Amino acid sequence: MEIKPKPDVVIWLVRDSVRLADNPALVAAVQEAEQRGVLLIPLACLDPCRWAGQQFGLARAGKVWSRFRIESLVDLKDQLELQGSTLWVSSEGVADTVNLISETVCVSCVVTDLPLATEERLENACLVTAGYQVIEVETDELFDKVQLPFPLDELPSTFSKFRKVVEKKSALDPLIPLGIPKLPPIPKQPWSKPLQWLEQSEIKSLDTQSLLIGGRKAGLAYWHGYLESGALSHYKETRNAFEGLYQSSYLSSWLAHGCLSAREVWADVLVYEQSQGANESTYWLRFELLWREFFHWYSRVSDWTLFRKSGPEARDVAGDQCQKRFQRWAAGATGCDIVDAAMCELQATGWMSNRARQLVASHLIYESGLDWRLGAAFFESQLVDYDVASNWGNWAYIAGVGPDPCGGRVFNLDQQAERYDPQGVYRQRWLSK
Ligand SMILES: Cc1cc2nc3c(=O)[nH]c(=O)nc-3n(C[C@H](O)[C@H](O)[C@H](O)COP(=O)(O)OP(=O)(O)OC[C@H]3O[C@@H](n4cnc5c(N)ncnc54)[C@H](O)[C@@H]3O)c2cc1C
Repeated sequence: MEIKPKPDVVIWLVRDSVRLADNPALVAAVQEAEQRGVLLIPLACLDPCRWAGQQFGLARAGKVWSRFRIESLVDLKDQLELQGSTLWVSSEGVADTVNLISETVCVSCVVTDLPLATEERLENACLVTAGYQVIEVETDELFDKVQLPFPLDELPSTFSKFRKVVEKKSALDPLIPLGIPKLPPIPKQPWSKPLQWLEQSEIKSLDTQSLLIGGRKAGLAYWHGYLESGALSHYKETRNAFEGLYQSSYLSSWLAHGCLSAREVWADVLVYEQSQGANESTYWLRFELLWREFFHWYSRVSDWTLFRKSGPEARDVAGDQCQKRFQRWAAGATGCDIVDAAMCELQATGWMSNRARQLVASHLIYESGLDWRLGAAFFESQLVDYDVASNWGNWAYIAGVGPDPCGGRVFNLDQQAERYDPQGVYRQRWLSK
């Protein structure tokens, strides 16, 4: 009997860059498939470790985050189908899924984003141990590693130093965003479709006050509306507001799920500056994107130390895990109005402004006397824009175990409330819910 050889495939493993445009990992995967003359399978894994896992007794994937991610994956699948391809979605972990695929085809290699943190790095290592070739591609940052004017193990120790070095280097511009490559067709996925099931599940009908819709289509529509409104020209004056359409950019969810790339936003800001004029505000959005950039590289350099209590800087800090105080903080019942209002907003919408995030973090660490990692884990379980590097990096920063030259940030909460919510409108809105 003739034994048919298994066909070869290249897998494009979609992690937190859920888009076709400006996706270097996808471009590399298509090239690999073309060079090897094999099929390309775009694959996303709804790994139970993340989707059903817990840390500190808290769910890792929050409901609002999950809904946003599903919307983003459905949108990606639609885009792929318009190109004659599709998206395979599995409800298993990465290694189990790739093993399952290799039962029927021969996996030539797996192409995916350069790991952002320990979990992704270990997943890739697991694939390599299982005998698969893994190609890691820098996908979601402004700069490629080779563009950075220092070796990664000499990453400047603070954001200010990082920004100065990066801004000083002449001709250091983010690469021009990439177009969408031509995709080869692929067969339908051979197992049941978790995406369809999830779409019909309670997550889809979740009752939240979030106005953020996942997916590139929604992200682009929002971003174009923002640019057309002219809000960017006064971004620096408004971005510290607690809430309000176009006060800050509200881009974080689409950036965190990778529906839009930071380089696309950067490039659009430059175009905007040419037609509408450049000022401090238009520069400031790029300044904020550099914070994201810094935390992304910081997370890679810190690896597992980002998740220990003493943080990457190995500093002994106070803070316990008292459940009673933690529950009061999480439920917005601390008695501090501004903190309680922000926590109510977070629970209702999955979102909170940057200013509010800093204040509630300061309260958890310095007033409630809790281990900062409880706060980071709670944010992970609630935020629609959860991004491992930005979340854990900012928490470590405020707790004084991260890249903060001052060794931590303690905020005067009453003064902050007075300054940024002088009429108490924000506090009234969320405390009366
Ligand atoms: C304790 C704490 C936890 C945080 N957790 C997250 C998180 O999980 N995901 C996340 O995307 N951001 C996080 N941030 C950063 C910041 O609060 C949000 O990016 C921002 O509030 C989102 O609103 P925006 O898109 O309107 O941001 P803007 O203020 O308009 O900023 C534009 C973009 O720049 C980036 N950015 C701005 N500030 C920061 C910052 N301090 N660190 C990293 N990137 C930044 C974001 O991508 C943001 O979308 C956290 C901040 C703190 C203090």
